[in-house]
Amino acid sequence: MEIKQLVLAQTIEEAYEAVKERRATILGGCTWLRMTTKSLDYGVDLSALGLSYIKESGQEIEIGASTTLRSLEVDGLLAKHYGPLFSRTLGHIVGVQLRNLSTLGGSLAGRYGFSDVSTLFLALGAELDLYPEGPLSIEAYMAATDHGPHLIRAVRIPARQVQASYQTVRITHLDFPILSVAAAYTGGLWRIAVGARPGRAQLAAAAMQILGGTKKPEGAAIAEAARQAAAELSFGKDIRADEEYRKNVCPVLVRRAIEEASR
Ligand SMILES: Cc1cc2nc3c(=O)[nH]c(=O)nc-3n(C[C@H](O)[C@H](O)[C@H](O)COP(=O)(O)OP(=O)(O)OC[C@H]3O[C@@H](n4cnc5c(N)ncnc54)[C@H](O)[C@@H]3O)c2cc1C
Repeated sequence: MEIKQLVLAQTIEEAYEAVKERRATILGGCTWLRMTTKSLDYGVDLSALGLSYIKESGQEIEIGASTTLRSLEVDGLLAKHYGPLFSRTLGHIVGVQLRNLSTLGGSLAGRYGFSDVSTLFLALGAELDLYPEGPLSIEAYMAATDHGPHLIRAVRIPARQVQASYQTVRITHLDFPILSVAAAYTGGLWRIAVGARPGRAQLAAAAMQILGGTKKPEGAAIAEAARQAAAELSFGKDIRADEEYRKNVCPVLVRRAIEEASR
């Protein structure tokens, strides 16, 4: 990949100006950009902005946009609050070398249908700190078709009383997911996200309502929510699987995710 001019931004305002005025491309870890882009007139490097961190702040954990997927995978604070959730979810993505480069900001900004990261953060009810707009829920971010020029500065997830599980089916351990499901009990309610449909991750809102505020739902409610998730979401075909396969696998993964998260 060729970058004709590189801006090493010293402030977030400077980075934003480059994006807005020069149509510069924001550079995360460049792991996906280099697959799709041969040449960029301008690239903005965020590495001098201090956005690589994971910290607890009150009821939340705040993660800077430049934090790598590998850092999320091995971080002690995340493990303390979420157990093996992050390492199990992210450990499927290609290999350690790629995860040492790929960033959280780049993973969410791409809104890729296959993204394990988007599915997980959607279920956790993440809030994105965008520049210049400010805070935005991840579901609003994922649903929009175009946000105009913006940067993801940080991402916040709850630090307390979350139980969550991530389930996926893949042809091989490190391949793209055929379907991914994350379920989380957070803030007294359930959230169920389904990704790789193969479209972008979406919440199964009616299935979530079936579970309501019950921390440990009965088997019948779990089965009903799993059926409902498959009924209310749309599925499609790509080179890995067809629509029918995904629709059939969905309730199985949703059931497993809720059962594991409510244990
Ligand atoms: C072969 C291969 C297989 C993969 N398999 C999987 C998989 O199975 N599951 C999975 O979840 N992921 C997978 N990935 C995706 C990998 O995690 C991505 O490469 C990653 O999500 C992109 O991160 P990055 O930091 O390199 O972003 P980049 O490639 O640098 O950027 C991606 C996009 O985000 C924009 N961007 C970057 N940072 C910001 C920011 N802070 N604010 C706003 N916009 C920003 C860029 O301008 C660009 O449009 C795979 C990637 C590859 C190359």
